[in-house]
Amino acid sequence: MLKDIEGMMRTGRLPHIWCPGCGNGIVMKAMLEAIHESGLNTDKIVVVSGIGCSSRAPGYLNFDTVHTTHGRALAFATGIKLAKPELSVFVVTGDGDGTAIGGNHLIHAARRNIDLNVILFNNNIYGMTGGQYSPLTPQGRFATTSPYGNLERSFDICDLVRGAGATYVGRGTVYHTKLLTELVKSAIRNKGFSFVEAVSICPVSYGRRNKLGSAPEMLKWLRDNAVAVKAARAMEPEKLAGKFVIGELYRETAPEYTELYAGLIARIKEGS
Ligand code: SF4
Repeated sequence: MLKDIEGMMRTGRLPHIWCPGCGNGIVMKAMLEAIHESGLNTDKIVVVSGIGCSSRAPGYLNFDTVHTTHGRALAFATGIKLAKPELSVFVVTGDGDGTAIGGNHLIHAARRNIDLNVILFNNNIYGMTGGQYSPLTPQGRFATTSPYGNLERSFDICDLVRGAGATYVGRGTVYHTKLLTELVKSAIRNKGFSFVEAVSICPVSYGRRNKLGSAPEMLKWLRDNAVAVKAARAMEPEKLAGKFVIGELYRETAPEYTELYAGLIARIKEGS
């Protein structure tokens, strides 16, 4: 397996730029395992990213990759998928890039149910651009832009994309790596807008400022506070308070946008 994954990487670009203890590499590995186990043709994969720590991942991936502007990965990916529907298009984004600057693109790509696989690395902070709080920074946490504690409530981003129209939604963590791989595999199988939130750890920009301990301690926190979706259904709301749910959260079947678009073109050509 490691050899197969290595073959999908631009190893000449290593060592990577992520800080020691960062969870980004774990998410990237889960994604590559999922691609390998799904048997995708690697010549037909495009990975698109925006800007941020997570968005550096495509630089290490030996596919066709596009490192775009901040928050706009989904706009680029939509254009690629519309022009070449036969490609498997992945979007790698972070919580700042994907839910703040790119939040509008996110809800409308989900609404269209266009066949993209979005992996959102949630490290709770804008890591690369200075440690500002994002829409996924929990209330009360510290950031360079919230030195007295964040006043805003955070999104449940999985609920948001589900409400917007995504047909596959899952949440994993960098502690539960097997689950994360399985979620990405399910996202790949889904014909439509697929969204996987990968809860990650940023021991440097986020953990240090919020006194969350070392990287292993942050991983243990994920282990102790994640609740599998089946178990969560049987739990009282008070017991779930402060925890978060992982697993496959939503799945449905709905018309996919590039197929609808192809149908429209065909109808126009036929003059009907
Ligand atoms: S700032 Fe945080 S997310 Fe960015 S590379 Fe460092 S540990 Fe990772």
